[in-house]
Amino acid sequence: MDADPRCPDCGVTMERVKIHTGDGLGLHVKTDEKRSGLLGSLGMKESRKVTPRACPECGLVRLYAEE
Ligand SMILES: [Zn+2]
Repeated sequence: MDADPRCPDCGVTMERVKIHTGDGLGLHVKTDEKRSGLLGSLGMKESRKVTPRACPECGLVRLYAEE
């Protein structure tokens, strides 16, 4: 991500926030890309961390998958 994302409604910079699940695990997205190496050969899919961002104006929350 080159620049901080902006809220599509307000046009202001969205701030990093934290979202916690009840079990304390971080959020991840599963992609269809196979993992490299042994895990990939076992059928494991790539997993990416997710960064939540919130608009300070309207409260919109978006989730961004990290590269
Ligand atoms: Zn907004």
